[in-house]
Order: sequence, then C-alpha cells, then structure tokens
Amino acid sequence: MNTAYPMPSAPKTLFEGNLLLKSLDAEDRALLAPHLERVECQRGDTLFSAGAEVSCISFPCDQTVATLIVAMRDGRGAETATVGREGAVGGVVSSGFLPASTSAVIQIGGPVLRIEAVRLQEAKRASASLRNLFTRYADCLLAQVLQSVACNALHPIEERCLRWLLTLQDRIGTDVLPVTHELLAAMLGVQRTYLTRILRTLQQQGLIEVGRGRITILSRSEMEEVACECHGVVVRHYATVLGAVSNSAGRLVSVDPPPATGATGSAEPVALA
Ligand SMILES: [Zn+2]
Repeated sequence: MNTAYPMPSAPKTLFEGNLLLKSLDAEDRALLAPHLERVECQRGDTLFSAGAEVSCISFPCDQTVATLIVAMRDGRGAETATVGREGAVGGVVSSGFLPASTSAVIQIGGPVLRIEAVRLQEAKRASASLRNLFTRYADCLLAQVLQSVACNALHPIEERCLRWLLTLQDRIGTDVLPVTHELLAAMLGVQRTYLTRILRTLQQQGLIEVGRGRITILSRSEMEEVACECHGVVVRHYATVLGAVSNSAGRLVSVDPPPATGATGSAEPVALA
C-alpha cells in the first residue's frame, strides 16, 4: 500500500460492477481509481487482437461478457475462455506489454472498466494484496483455459455446449441468455446446421428452450447433472483459489481471495503456471 495516494475520488459504484475490483479494500481502490476509464462496449467489439501488444487490462462489468478466441487460418475459430464481471482480460497472465496470443471479443455488450497495463503494474508493485488478487485470478483463468482444452478433446459436443451455457449463466445471472445460433456455433467451432441439431436434442431433453436470439435455461440443476464435470471443476477452482461465491441460481456474486501463502508471504502462483 502507498498512503501517499489520495483516497478514491471516483464514486464507490465505479468498483461495484466487477467482482475483482469490488473485492478491493479502500487503499487498493485508491491506487486504481485515478486510472480507471469506463467505456461502453457493443457485441462484436474487439478489445485486442491476436498478435497485437496488449496495452490495457479490461474488466467487464455487470452483464458484459468477453471471450478469448483463437482463430485459425481457414477462418474457423473457437472460444478458449469466457470472462465476465468475475474477471479481467488483457495481459492478466503476462502483465501486459507482450503480444496477445488470442483475440478478445465482446459477446454481450455493456460497460467495461479499462486501465493501462503500466498503471496496473505500478499499483501491483505498491500493493501485496493487489499482487495476490491478480496472481490468483491468473491461475483461475489458466485453469479455465486448460479445462477447456481437455473438454474439447474428450467430451461430446452436447456436453461442451452445456458447459458454455452454464459458464455464461454464471456470469450474467439470468435464465434467458442473449445467444444466437451464430454466436454459439462460433464459440463451439461448429457449423450452424450441426449446432441446430444439438440444440434440438437439448430442447427435447427439457433442458433448454431455444428462441429467436436467445436460449432459455429451463433447469440449471438438470443441466449440471447432464453436463460433463468440466464446468463444476472450474467453479470449484475459482471458489478455492479466488474465494469466488455463487448464489443459489449459480450466479457469481463475490470474490474474496485468501491471503497470500508461502514461506515468503509472496503471492506466487498457487497451483498452475
Ligand atoms: Zn467437459
């Protein structure tokens, strides 16, 4: 902490929309507040492109959702991580200044708080609790990506589809998900016609209702039973490493990172990376 920084002049609500920022104490908020910029993002906006230098860290707020997408030369692509108000994108693992390995695209529009990577680095140098928070979050994000790799290789498309819908519901907190066939097909890396068959099967099972531009989750508990283990594994990792708490409907409502551990008290990566 550095008490030379002024207390935040920004309204308290600045931090409310994103759970990582909301978990910060007053001193850490004071370090970041002068440098946070709120922007409104639309679906399809690119936060950064693969190969470009990452200069900003973006924190999705409220119901805003961004995905990290790897695009192939033939034009196809697939989602590798879905990030909402529980997290951040852009140099979370590398601390910025390095070329991005993926693109980050807004899938559900809304407010995003941005901070220049260099400003966040300064704040992390000044605050052990900020370093602890971001180290723990980076571990969770990596765990989510690694679980996706295994899921994509081992589990059938229906279960991958359920995993992504549950992951999205955790982040936006409603039963009605503003998801088009086109978007879902792009996330899963499959043809639209193939996806339509998958959705019909899931609808016949009574798990979802497919509407125009939306998918409604009819029974989250049944979906969790039918889905592969991957969603639950990632939720438990977030709970253990980041102190993430979900409400009874599955929505992520808070994070409360445990203090840094280890003999030196430094916030070294917990399990991965
Ligand atoms: Zn899976």
